[in-house]
Formats: sequence, structure tokens, C-alpha cells
Amino acid sequence: MLVVGLTGGIGSGKSSVAARFAEHGAHVLDADRIAREVVAPGSPGLQAVRERFGEEVVAGGTLDRAALGRIVFADPAARADLEAITHPLVGERTAAELARLPQGAWAVHDVPLLVELGYAPRYHLVVVVDAPEQVRVDRLVQARGMAAADAWSRLRAQASGQQRRAVADVWLDNSGARQELDAQVARLVTERLEPLRRRLRQQAAVAEGEALPPPEGEDVPGRAARVRHRLDHVLAQAGYRPGAAELATDAAGWTRGTLRLAGAAGEAGLHQSLAEAGFPAAALGSLGSADPGRPVMVGLTGV
Ligand code: ADP
Repeated sequence: MLVVGLTGGIGSGKSSVAARFAEHGAHVLDADRIAREVVAPGSPGLQAVRERFGEEVVAGGTLDRAALGRIVFADPAARADLEAITHPLVGERTAAELARLPQGAWAVHDVPLLVELGYAPRYHLVVVVDAPEQVRVDRLVQARGMAAADAWSRLRAQASGQQRRAVADVWLDNSGARQELDAQVARLVTERLEPLRRRLRQQAAVAEGEALPPPEGEDVPGRAARVRHRLDHVLAQAGYRPGAAELATDAAGWTRGTLRLAGAAGEAGLHQSLAEAGFPAAALGSLGSADPGRPVMVGLTGV
């Protein structure tokens, strides 16, 4: 099942893009909603938070976010404790919601902190929505009634544009009108996500000549590192050590090179995991890509 990661700084238009994806048939999983649900009144998550932080973070059976925020923002160890409680619960719930989706479905995981949490390699594709900072602040002030100083300080606390660009497989520029954003999403779905879904189902790799030209805004040479991170993630999930990889992306956007694994490279279970992650077998001994927007030809060898 295709799972797209969606992120963007506050005021970038991420929620607007999530809504458009839903209109195109995606199941949108809202990470903020799930994070609230795992500490809802009466939940084991709230009980664990209460045991660690005391009664002062609970008011009338409900989590007092402001009180908890004051503790964890001032104290990194307290914050790590909170995350050690909530992150596994959020992960389990997210996985359970994904597992419940009907056959043939596809999902968009809307994660404001995707970059900060280092989640990019978990997805087949990461979509970043962006707009110039001043535009974002103006929208937050006008549409949400936020104070400008408040909007600026929130912006400053988040990942930088550069950090987001490094993980962006798709960069949606929302500096223009809403219709322009909607058109970018529609094009992405028809030109890239639908062929990607079909190839994921068929476990088929993009052939030479079938790849899309590199889109505007994407850090194309950075593809090699993004491919590498994804491959390492799949290997780790499948119980392998990270492979030694020499990968580079050429001007046409193809990522080529070799990945050497300690141990058995021909193992069927590993190939199944790689195919599900969007790296089906291509030519003999090589991995390809199911994504026409990020073609791959990587030799896989054991050592
Ligand atoms: P985020 O989820 O990234 O914080 P939103 O999608 O909520 O951002 O957008 C922030 C605000 O800006 C919302 O009020 C939204 O309606 C508005 N907005 C988003 N895109 C545009 C656009 N292209 N033109 C004008 N306003 C926009």
C-alpha cells in the first residue's frame, strides 16, 4: 500500500494539501489527532503520563497541555521521558489504522514534525509544502487571527526550509493562489502517484524511458542520499545491517550504483520487503524503483 508522508511548516498550506489528497481518494492520517488520542481521558497513555509527571499535568481527568508543556520545554530529560511514553503508542495506533484500511487504499500521513523526527525514510514518498516565510506569517495572521510575533516565533522553532528540502521527494510551492496549489496536487496524483500505486501492486520497476523529468524545486542530486536512507530503513526493518552503498544521481534523475550487503543478498524475504517499499527487482541482481518520479538502478550484491 502506498503511504505518502506529508509535511510543511506552520502556515505553509499542509492542511490544505491534505484536504486535496483526501478528495483524490487518499486516507489521511493526522498525526496530531493520533497524538491527542493516545493521551485521551481514561487512556493508558494518560495514566503513564500522570505517573511520570504527577497530578499537576491533569485537570479534571484531562491532560493539561499547557502545564505539561511548561515542564518538558524547560527540561530535555523530561521531554525524552514524555516521548518514550507517547511515541510507541502513537506508532502502534498509526500502524493499526494503516492495517485497517481496505485493500487497494492509499494513505497520506500528515506529520507536522516529520523532518524533526527523522521519519522521511518510512514513506514511499515525502511531500513538502512550502511558501515564503512572510507569506506564511501573513496567512496565519489574516486567516487564523494569530499575532504576527507569535507566528514568527513558531516558524523559527521549526525545521528550516533547507532541512525540509533535503527530505523532499516532492516540493509543492504554495506561494501563489489556491488554484495553483490544487493543480500541483492533481498533477502529482495522476502523473506520479497513480503509476506508483500500480507498480507497487505489480512489483514492477520503472524502465528507461518511463521516468518523469526531474520536477522543479526538488534537490535532484540529493536523491541518492534519500534512496540510501530508505534502503537502510528497509534493511533494518528486515533485520539486516545497513549495506555499503555507492550511489549517485545523474542529471536525468536516475540514481545508480551498488549496494553491498553483509550476508545473503538473494534472500526472498528481503526482496519482498524491498519491493513493498518501492524497490522491486529490475534486471538480474538489480533493484529498480516503482516511482516514475525517482528512478533507480542499483546493483545488489552479497559479500
Ligand atoms: P498549515 O496546515 O500548513 O498550517 P493551512 O493549510 O492551514 O496551513 O494554511 C494556512 C492558512 O493559509 C489557512 O487559513 C489557509 O486557508 C490559508 N491558505 C493556504 N494556502 C493558501 C493560498 N494559496 N492562498 C491563500 N491562502 C492560503
